[in-house]
Amino acid sequence: MRFLITGGCGFIGSAAVRYLVQAGHQVLNIDKLTYAGDSRTVAAVADFPNYRFERHDILDRDDIAVLFQRFAPQAVWHFAAETHVDRSIEDPGKFVDTNVTGTFTMLQCALQFWSNLNLVEQSAFRFIHISTDEVYGSLGDQGLFKETTAYRPNSPYAASKAGADHLVRAWYATFGLPTIISNCSNNYGPFQNREKLIPTIIRKAIAGQPIPIYGQGQNVRDWLYVNDHVAAIAAICTKGTEGSSYNIGGLCQVSNIALATEICKLLDERRPRRDGQGYAQLIQFVADRPGHDYRYAIDSTKARQELGWLPRESLQTGLSKTVDWYLDHMDWTLDDLNVDDRLGLRLPVGQS
Ligand code: NAD
Repeated sequence: MRFLITGGCGFIGSAAVRYLVQAGHQVLNIDKLTYAGDSRTVAAVADFPNYRFERHDILDRDDIAVLFQRFAPQAVWHFAAETHVDRSIEDPGKFVDTNVTGTFTMLQCALQFWSNLNLVEQSAFRFIHISTDEVYGSLGDQGLFKETTAYRPNSPYAASKAGADHLVRAWYATFGLPTIISNCSNNYGPFQNREKLIPTIIRKAIAGQPIPIYGQGQNVRDWLYVNDHVAAIAAICTKGTEGSSYNIGGLCQVSNIALATEICKLLDERRPRRDGQGYAQLIQFVADRPGHDYRYAIDSTKARQELGWLPRESLQTGLSKTVDWYLDHMDWTLDDLNVDDRLGLRLPVGQS
């Protein structure tokens, strides 16, 4: 099949690109290569004849429309987005531009292309929009997000993704474009940007720096290994009901402090500190994020029943693989430290 992937040089998009290209599909990856995009994420497939990369901004409607015509995708997996909640608090405008207007642009280009297909091609076409459970807002101590839970986004990031989700649904309801939305919990695994929680814990620990944890670390997240998310998207694309949405979660809820402690234990086993102290000694609570959602937890029953999808990795197996990957890829893990510091694993310049 021919897949058009947006944001395929980011964390999850690149896992999708590697999966699809290695499975023999034709893949066109469109990415603007913002600070969050990195061509190293797709180096493993860069030379495959069934892979092509084009650097574009999804806001450039003329460029994107031409790419649709030339490549004639059978499916679009739309990952491109601004994704970091803290950045959305500092600079929300970018999130509205890329996540809302960028999704609008993708929908318009997809619709224009799709309208000219024959009926058989039209019914086989899929536009999969990759979204987040953060659109639902925050849970108390009880309950799970279901597909029917009302949207109540709290951060500018979550609000911009919610806006995009509404557009995607409307393009199905109004124009008939076969769209499906996945609302997924927190992902983790190889090639995640250093600013996100799990890479931050690992890199700060290795560098012997304080490991910052918001508030008292009591916020709860449901973690999903990135390859399990890609498998869910593939199942949604082939078996999902058009016009609907699927909640995708890892079946594991854990507080940030428990997660950080678990990662420190894995590091203790693999790379004991010279001073004999555990890495957990480095954990330091910092002022909480404004509007910090307390708990996210996903009910994935619909995905299990309709798609036969279940995560393969438990948090234990997934975290083990992830910690091993970051230890084996120090160039990625510590790549903003200067080389001497990387080699000696001393404090990085300007980061103490
Ligand atoms: P990421 O920040 O690692 O990557 C985003 C990618 O999009 C980058 O390669 C970036 O260069 C590209 N991009 C940004 N703006 C662009 C633009 N205007 N035009 C073209 N490309 C652009 O993000 P991620 O963590 O891989 O997330 C991918 C998608 O999955 C996002 O839509 C996000 O909302 C969603 N999601 C993420 C998680 C998670 O835990 N990471 C969970 C649920 C849903």
